[in-house]
Amino acid sequence: MLAVAQEEKDMIVVMQHSARQEQIEGVVACIRDMGYRPHVSEGEETTIIGIIGHSAPEQLERLEFLPGVDHMVPIGKPYKLGSRDFKPRDTIVGVDGVSFGARRLAVIAGPCAVESEEQLRETAVAIQASGARALRAGAFKPRTSPYSFQGLGRAALEMMDRLRRDLGLVVITEVLTPDDVDVVASHVDILQVGARNMQNFSLLQEIGRSGHPVLLKRGMSATVEELLMSAEYILANNNNRVILCERGIRTFENSTRFTLDISAIPVLKHLTHLPVIVDPSHATGKWMFVAPVAKAAIAAGADGLMVEVHPRPSEALSDGPQSLRLDRFGTLMDELSILAPAVGRTL
Ligand code: PEP
Ligand code: MN
Repeated sequence: MLAVAQEEKDMIVVMQHSARQEQIEGVVACIRDMGYRPHVSEGEETTIIGIIGHSAPEQLERLEFLPGVDHMVPIGKPYKLGSRDFKPRDTIVGVDGVSFGARRLAVIAGPCAVESEEQLRETAVAIQASGARALRAGAFKPRTSPYSFQGLGRAALEMMDRLRRDLGLVVITEVLTPDDVDVVASHVDILQVGARNMQNFSLLQEIGRSGHPVLLKRGMSATVEELLMSAEYILANNNNRVILCERGIRTFENSTRFTLDISAIPVLKHLTHLPVIVDPSHATGKWMFVAPVAKAAIAAGADGLMVEVHPRPSEALSDGPQSLRLDRFGTLMDELSILAPAVGRTL
């Protein structure tokens, strides 16, 4: 088959089913010689090779005539490494025994912020007993007001580090600046990029270079495509351990804090191979709506959840109104374990 579209910029090379390893290597070498970066994705039946860089289609045409090449496909989307065109099969991001994007749902729970070692430990023990396998808690809080509680910083990182050792939970916290990436990565298992930082490109690049697993939250005014372009910054820096998180967007509706974009879940699952989880806490802003929205997210195909939980929400230093009590989180987990099999998942 001949090259399909001259005017398209980005192309992928689809190898023949029977292509031999040296033929794949030949194509890779040719892509490199032309000054691009090849990205090989081996599927069960066929190998796909992406061409990273600003490509000139006329120059790429000769790849089509190399041995083992079946055909070339233009990519109409601005993101590449995150696209299903590049990698049709789901990516499973494994973090210390917890898999994101697998059949078994991954639930992250914990307080908005670390307030004290006792508060964190009490929450961690309870969420673990309820079946959560990852603990969230903010050490550096990106607050809308500079006068609000900003987090305990480094001391909080140390508490999280101790807890993951003691309890064997995966821990996740937000990193706000490129300079903090190394220190945060040395204390926690997953770096969180908050909604307000989704387009902080130097932060994304630094996280890419760190190679550390990352949870990338959708900006409150970002389109699905913009979220995927932000993921691309991390992927293009050779870090493919990216988990996406829908956390609600700004709309005219103000009866909830944000509006959970429920359709973004199947849309993202269609467009990208990356795992997608949902944060029903920031999306709704009110604890009484968290469980119903969490269940809807799982029914819509989310690979997991991130839920804010606090032992005494009325005393929380941040986001108390949207935090579930420990017992209510347990009830939600029980309900999810009944729901999960109906949508082909386990908890
Ligand atoms: C958070 O998860 O604590 C948080 C601040 O969320 P977001 O960035 O989505 O507002
Ligand atoms: Mn919060």
